[in-house]
Amino acid sequence: MEKVIEVNGLTKKFKNLVAVNNLNLNVYKGDVFGFLGPNGAGKSTTIRMLLSLISPTSGSIRIFGKSLNKHRIEILRNIGAIVEKPDFYLYMTAYKNLELLGKISGTDTSKANIMKVLELVGLKDRYNSKVKTYSHGMKQRLGLAQALLHDPDLIILDEPTTGLDPHGIKEIRDLIIYLSREKGKTIFLSSHILKEIEIIATRMIIIDKGTTKIEGSVEDLLNDHKLTVTIEVNETEKFKTFLNETQWKISFKEFEKNVAVFLLTKEEIPVLNKELVEKGFNVNSIVPKKSLEDYFLKITKGNTE
Ligand code: ADP
Repeated sequence: MEKVIEVNGLTKKFKNLVAVNNLNLNVYKGDVFGFLGPNGAGKSTTIRMLLSLISPTSGSIRIFGKSLNKHRIEILRNIGAIVEKPDFYLYMTAYKNLELLGKISGTDTSKANIMKVLELVGLKDRYNSKVKTYSHGMKQRLGLAQALLHDPDLIILDEPTTGLDPHGIKEIRDLIIYLSREKGKTIFLSSHILKEIEIIATRMIIIDKGTTKIEGSVEDLLNDHKLTVTIEVNETEKFKTFLNETQWKISFKEFEKNVAVFLLTKEEIPVLNKELVEKGFNVNSIVPKKSLEDYFLKITKGNTE
């Protein structure tokens, strides 16, 4: 598989503070790569190094198979990024903003191209409105439009949904999925919210104090971390017999009053449920208790500023 980003032993020190500590990561073509960690974990510092805004203390970064150090301009030309809240001229229209910002960065500012990206981010109908009339979510999407003007292969987004309401979050989320699936873009996305990453990312790493804690495909990580599931049925004695006679006794842990506690993968839950119903049990409730989220909270405990 083609590596789009390859980071090896990346370290950044600010005086005595080690913000990023010997970080390794690989992002493959077509990934929506989730870069997850609590506040202060070193996400922005890493992203700023990926964009050559600051230089690493040590370690190497290769993007599109080339050393960022040696091929900086060429590489950056093929990256679109939103790192901080995008800044626009509020009294100019969205269209004029893109035209101006595009001219400054030397990209294609033809009407066709500007309208194309505005359509992509769902702002075509509002191209002629002043940015001051835009909602926060719309401004965020306009930021994305700006990052897409030069049709980059790699898009880097630092906490793109921060400060958005649920509707705005969904719009950005759908847009990221669209850019990945329909446009074949590789997306590197940071967040301090596991749910965000769980929903849209294909692969992810969790970092804490500048170091990798877990890395893998989101699906595998979710499955690897079995859920504690409580199941309540009416007929406790019959249930105990069922447990003793089936393979589910391996996943069964204990009874808490009338509620049975299991350790199950996400896939096993509906299978067990179906079996119970088929055996004539009344399943009153099935509640998954622990998830990757608990794990995320545990490893980052007391470190969320
Ligand atoms: P995140 O993006 O995960 O919230 P950051 O990369 O912003 O984390 O910060 C990582 C650590 O580095 C924090 O402790 C932060 O205070 C520190 N840091 C970031 N930038 C600087 C800087 N320019 N000077 C000194 N310390 C910094």
